[in-house]
Amino acid sequence: MNVKERIEYLRRELHRHNDLYYKNSTPEISDYDYDMMMRELQDLEIQYPEFYDISSPSMRVGSDINKAFIQVAHKYPMLSLSNTYTKEEVIDFVTKCRNTLNEEVYLCAELKYDGTSISLTYENGKLTRALTRGDGEKGDDVTSNVRTIKSVPLLLKGDYPKEFEMRGEILLPWREFDRLNAEREAQEEPLFANPRNAASGTLKLQNSKIVASRKLEAILYYMLGGKLPGDSHFENLRVASSWGFHVGEHTRLCKTVDEVFDFISYWDEERKNLPVATDGIVIKVDSIRQQQELGFTAKSPRWAIAYKFQAERAESILREVTYQVGRTGIVTPVANLDPVQLSGTIVRRASLYNEDAINALDLHIGDSCYVEKGGEIIPKIVGVNKYKRDPNGEKVIFIKNCPVCNTPLERIEGEAAYFCPNKYGCAPQIKGRIEHFVFRRAMNIDGLGPETIDAFFSNGLINDISDLFYLTKKQIMSCPRLKSAADADQSLNVVEDIETKEMVEQDDSGFGGLFATPKPKKGKENNVKGYFTEKLADNILKALDDAKDVPFERVFFALGIRFVGETIAKKIVMSLHNINNIMKASYDELMGIEDVGTRIAQSIIEYFSDERNIAIVEKLRGAGLQFEIAADKIASRTEKLKGLNFVISGVFSLHTRDEYKDMIELNGGKNTGSISAKTNYILAGDNMGPAKLEKASKLNIPVINEDDFLKMINE
Ligand code: AMP
Ligand code: ZN
Repeated sequence: MNVKERIEYLRRELHRHNDLYYKNSTPEISDYDYDMMMRELQDLEIQYPEFYDISSPSMRVGSDINKAFIQVAHKYPMLSLSNTYTKEEVIDFVTKCRNTLNEEVYLCAELKYDGTSISLTYENGKLTRALTRGDGEKGDDVTSNVRTIKSVPLLLKGDYPKEFEMRGEILLPWREFDRLNAEREAQEEPLFANPRNAASGTLKLQNSKIVASRKLEAILYYMLGGKLPGDSHFENLRVASSWGFHVGEHTRLCKTVDEVFDFISYWDEERKNLPVATDGIVIKVDSIRQQQELGFTAKSPRWAIAYKFQAERAESILREVTYQVGRTGIVTPVANLDPVQLSGTIVRRASLYNEDAINALDLHIGDSCYVEKGGEIIPKIVGVNKYKRDPNGEKVIFIKNCPVCNTPLERIEGEAAYFCPNKYGCAPQIKGRIEHFVFRRAMNIDGLGPETIDAFFSNGLINDISDLFYLTKKQIMSCPRLKSAADADQSLNVVEDIETKEMVEQDDSGFGGLFATPKPKKGKENNVKGYFTEKLADNILKALDDAKDVPFERVFFALGIRFVGETIAKKIVMSLHNINNIMKASYDELMGIEDVGTRIAQSIIEYFSDERNIAIVEKLRGAGLQFEIAADKIASRTEKLKGLNFVISGVFSLHTRDEYKDMIELNGGKNTGSISAKTNYILAGDNMGPAKLEKASKLNIPVINEDDFLKMINE
């Protein structure tokens, strides 16, 4: 067998074993053998790049290359579904369809999977593109991430149309979700609130290797295209399954509404045993011809409807409202309830959002509250049973002073939120800033999770970021460790400042997922879980020592100056070179730096006009941190691209996008996000979006590739 044949053989076999495993659950070989075959294939592919194939099973493994997502227009818009909660509305829907069509309809009842929707394009049996829903008109191209999902076929078999689209849901199974959260908890990272957030966050990760490790699932529920196999949606999906797709298996073709209701009652209970999350039933008119006749409203198809399961609800007594303070000082109210069973977990706390939400509920202590979970893991209070109100119950009034430091709260103008202005004396704010400092994209100091920071802070070892570098081994080893953040007071830190964090850490709850596993509050006395071992202490000290090599632009970002994000920090450092220049920079000087506006300039001036901050910087400098841009970065600065505006698009092979951006800036050029008449060059890699290409040619803007660009700056 020659190399090419061997590669083809391995690809064929790996595709087959993958199918056996994921579609039929009947593996023929061990995981180990599978991995060995995969490794052989990968090695050969690296050695013989001429046999590169985008559909190779090796694409499942993902890559470390960072890519920003390109937005691509959907061929057919991705709409949502109209929701109903009652059977009457389902009957109305069916009646309306029948009346409009003036004929009988068959109905397809299916599970409504609660993940994130995806659109897959197949051309000549190959997966060529995967788009998220985005705004419905255009979505993010997440193809390389989707290729890592094993239940998404890369190559089809059978008699498939030349070009078509499959729509479906990307899900993170409960088991994976629990595993992931357990892992994150161990690493003191914020938890995901629910599998839906975890799935959509994962799909948007920049690093497809991490995506591959997360074991997402895909379940497909709709086929779209010019030449579909037949007129029945139900049948089309069956056929799609034979081509290799994982289609929803719990689907029923119904002739009557009663059959649909049977399906609903069955799954309302049975769904709790499914490996993935569902939040309702989707009922679709089965005939594609009839679907086309019924058409769409601006928002949703007229031929389908979602019946949502009632969110599980419980009633419990409100004992107390407590308040949490986050790193920027924002105060969030939390309801403390009598423990109550709700969808399999015991609920003790529920979010109350802000003062307005409390007032809208007209909440009193002792009230019997309705608690719901809905699709969220974080429970919320949706109402009060006023019949049970204790007339002596005290009305809940939002606090006027910080629950931690007692400073009078201030309201953010035009917003519902209050914050504590005592930036330097309020413990959760201080701890929050230290957490920001060590955070991955800032100083990236391992071993200093929120619990460790809390332990050091509560024991007086650190009071600001600069103290970290003066810790001794003896101090660390004699510092008691706290059992877990949730046990300490003020522990439920609200993650408000997520813009700088990785996408996946976002969830729409604003609670950073900390509610996901509510823990009983324990007394302070048994709050301690031993001491830091010598090994832990060594690791922490080593990580702190390594931080002394972190380049100045990241140190500057890590200081946590308000409004100074990663990119701005870099621009300021590029332009002013060292901390002395930045500290003495005037307002005008700062405003002269690209992208620095009033807000940022003022914030920097304010920061350095505070002696406490100067002291911190001096102490950090004394500890040996970088406060000057590396000499080679200045030396490599040129003006070769002065006055030129670049747009970067696509995927590159010689350097990453970020590296190209840096090169453009280092050579005096400017990066801009979108193509306009002012654009001088488009630096294009592979897979540049067709819309961008068209625009470029319309405006007559030269499109250059990596080689052209490198020549330009190396001349
Ligand atoms: P909603 O987001 O509540 O408007 O519901 C619409 C979404 O439900 C779609 O965008 C899909 O992502 C999702 N969905 C889940 N299961 C199905 C299904 N079987 N058929 C159609 N859509 C589904
Ligand atoms: Zn405070």
